[in-house]
Amino acid sequence: MRAERVSLLMTRAPLARPFENRWQRFESWTKVLVRVEAGGLTGLGECTAMETPYYNYETTETAWHVLERYLIPLVLRSGTTDPEAAARAWAHVNGHEEAKAALECALWDLRAKAAGVPLGVALGGERATVPVGATVGIEPTIDALVDAVARAHEAGYARVRIKIRQGWDVEPVKAVRSALPDVPLIADANAAYGAEDLPHLRALDGLGLLALEQPLKSRLIAESAALQASLATPVCLDESVKSLADVRQALDAGACRAVNVKAGRVGGLAEARRIHDACRDHGVPAFVGAKYDFGVGRWTNIALGTLANMTLPSDVGPTARYYRDDGTTPQVCFVSPGRVAPRPAPGLGVEITDSAHVVRAQSFCPTSDKEPRWRA
Ligand code: MG
Repeated sequence: MRAERVSLLMTRAPLARPFENRWQRFESWTKVLVRVEAGGLTGLGECTAMETPYYNYETTETAWHVLERYLIPLVLRSGTTDPEAAARAWAHVNGHEEAKAALECALWDLRAKAAGVPLGVALGGERATVPVGATVGIEPTIDALVDAVARAHEAGYARVRIKIRQGWDVEPVKAVRSALPDVPLIADANAAYGAEDLPHLRALDGLGLLALEQPLKSRLIAESAALQASLATPVCLDESVKSLADVRQALDAGACRAVNVKAGRVGGLAEARRIHDACRDHGVPAFVGAKYDFGVGRWTNIALGTLANMTLPSDVGPTARYYRDDGTTPQVCFVSPGRVAPRPAPGLGVEITDSAHVVRAQSFCPTSDKEPRWRA
């Protein structure tokens, strides 16, 4: 198939409740969605880039720019919607993995629809259901944190991840562990600490954490290996893993015993699957991480979560925890306590609804078969 039209949609949705990480507080979330039309089918992809360049350098605006100026023209010129062929076509575009992943995921949705199978099946997934974890942000007080973790646990989530940062780490984790000794718990530092913090981070060992996620700045692989060697708690890498080469280096160095896999962070589903396979071959469990996804991204991650080695709970919880209405249908819901299931329909099985708050939209088409350029 060749793409007949590719559209970009900048969409915004209010959060069900405010969220705060170590950089900022959110009341709403804005995403770039990608829609590819080919052969009477429509593929959808969601860009995980945020409005601000704090988690990484990409933003909704840089993603829009790179998609509009480089990635979409390359796909329109290529004459194919095969996701792996598209990735080869844009291999010379440096970085911008979240922009690439948004378009690549839409092409995977198309591929699965053309094959008449759910996206998880197209990816080689084997699980009928996916265990789900919740994330609790930095709360105003320790009591509020304990309360939020308790509510997530009572709601059935298979684990709870809490965000930590300098000044909000050992005491909050100890308080949660003391009040809720049985909750499977991850502490996620979002790369907040440096090599000088290793002695401090060791105070988090012995608290029964399922994992200590990305404690160190992303390039500190040798230091992460030293930390892992001194902890009983598994170190989980997130921001450090931007490619298969990164995860191989980390696994060979002993820098982690768990990996958070985000298709957006590694340029798409094909690379995410290769990273999953590398973890499996090293006996290291993985899970699917998320960034307050709308339905397109959430159902994509559920499909990815059906891969066999995604044995830790993934960030694919019910939509209602995050959004009253994210502009897509159907919403993700539990099918049993702490578990969700992929859609049985071909592809993602999700649609953008009329309620989507579209801030900006633009479509691109090939100008003609003989002149495979593009026009807005
Ligand atoms: Mg993380």
